[in-house]
Amino acid sequence: MTQIRKARNGVVTPAMQRVAEREGVESEFVRQQVAAGQAVIPANVHHDSLDPMIIGREFSTKVNANIGNSDTTSSIEEERRKLHVAVSHGADTVMDLSTGEDLDRIREDNVERSPVPIGTVPLYGALKQAGSPEDITPEILLSVIEKQAEQGVDYMTIHAGILMEHLPLTDGRVTGIVSRGGSILASWMEANGEQNPLFTHFEEICEIFAEHDVTFSLGDSLRPGSVADACDEAQYAELDTLGELTRVAWDHDVQVMVEGPGHVPMHKVAENVERQQEVCDGAPFYVLGPLVTDIAPGYDHITSAIGAAMAAEAGAAMLCYVTPKEHLGLPEEKDVKDGLAAYRIAAHSADIANDRPGARDWDDALSSARYEFDWREQFDLALDPERAREFHDQSLPGDNYKDARFCSMCGAEFCSMRIDQDARDGSERERNVEIPDLDESRAAEVNRPPVGTHDASAAADRIVERATGDD
Ligand code: SF4
Repeated sequence: MTQIRKARNGVVTPAMQRVAEREGVESEFVRQQVAAGQAVIPANVHHDSLDPMIIGREFSTKVNANIGNSDTTSSIEEERRKLHVAVSHGADTVMDLSTGEDLDRIREDNVERSPVPIGTVPLYGALKQAGSPEDITPEILLSVIEKQAEQGVDYMTIHAGILMEHLPLTDGRVTGIVSRGGSILASWMEANGEQNPLFTHFEEICEIFAEHDVTFSLGDSLRPGSVADACDEAQYAELDTLGELTRVAWDHDVQVMVEGPGHVPMHKVAENVERQQEVCDGAPFYVLGPLVTDIAPGYDHITSAIGAAMAAEAGAAMLCYVTPKEHLGLPEEKDVKDGLAAYRIAAHSADIANDRPGARDWDDALSSARYEFDWREQFDLALDPERAREFHDQSLPGDNYKDARFCSMCGAEFCSMRIDQDARDGSERERNVEIPDLDESRAAEVNRPPVGTHDASAAADRIVERATGDD
């Protein structure tokens, strides 16, 4: 029985209890949100190493990291390393988008090692099996989906919303169809002259998902690939279909989240979120970026984190990170780390803006350490302690500078915080602030240091142990 079915039956599952503990809320509230389809707990019954988490607009904003190989780059060892980097740098879920060799082995490895939900796009496996888009059959699709469900994949992107009648709507686009899944299915429909098989076989997919408790991530095949194409007829026509499919999945007791764009200028980001929430009856919105400008290849973790923060403030529940390599090449370890840092910042900023309980405690603790010139505490509380310490020590490496009342930016004479403190000491002004105790904070785990929702050292140990066969 799926989490949503149990929630509808009034049962609070161990996964719901664990999620409530992590989010700092009542387990009954979690149950109600899951029962109403307003939040999902992606937790395949075969994923034994999972630490359950929740995705929904009433909970802390989550971040997904994509990893995976391609047919030109990466190996199973590299994928293993990327999974570790992703989890230890705060990814709440990880999508394996491998399209190269050893797909089954990499997926199995990821599920076995990962404490966070694993997502996949089964269409990629179907294409590898069929050899070309037009040779994919419904039988291949269903068998690949079933196999991945049996392997323990927690959620799958299913591109069921793109229909034959949507294809002409993309003719005037600057960047056509940019989703991999969308382009494969468009090619299939054109070659075979038939409707999208993921749409026509959607109920069979629901049955497989219900058996293993796999969560839908309904793919946005017609997401805009440039700001010029944002919010066009094609994008919104597909969204309407995704709304219909959401209700079909709910009828089968299957959890659903819905994927969103892409490339969207800043003034249209909130409109996208509001429209999805309305059309899909509040099913969690899982957005890729969106990139708010197209001009910065090499910096798209920044262009997209701006849009992601705005989307999360407007109600998006999970942000799919974009790395600096977007549009240019397959991300490597450093790209995964940089992308996650940008997205943790976006998610946390939105949680502050949305006044999530305790969300600002981390900020207040760090700011106080900063004002007190407690450099060691400031490094420890930083999103990326290693980088903060490294940057500071580049100009002032000596241990004595860890107690200094200045850094190299303004220097001793012009340090404004030192000047302010000295002025207070010589006047009546006092500093009356309450410094939060982070151990007592009501914040969700994602809003407390160290980075991420999982103990990075434990994740590392577990992965090393498994890699060396020590357990
Ligand atoms: S020197 Fe400037 S940047 Fe450095 S601590 Fe003082 S005020 Fe801040």
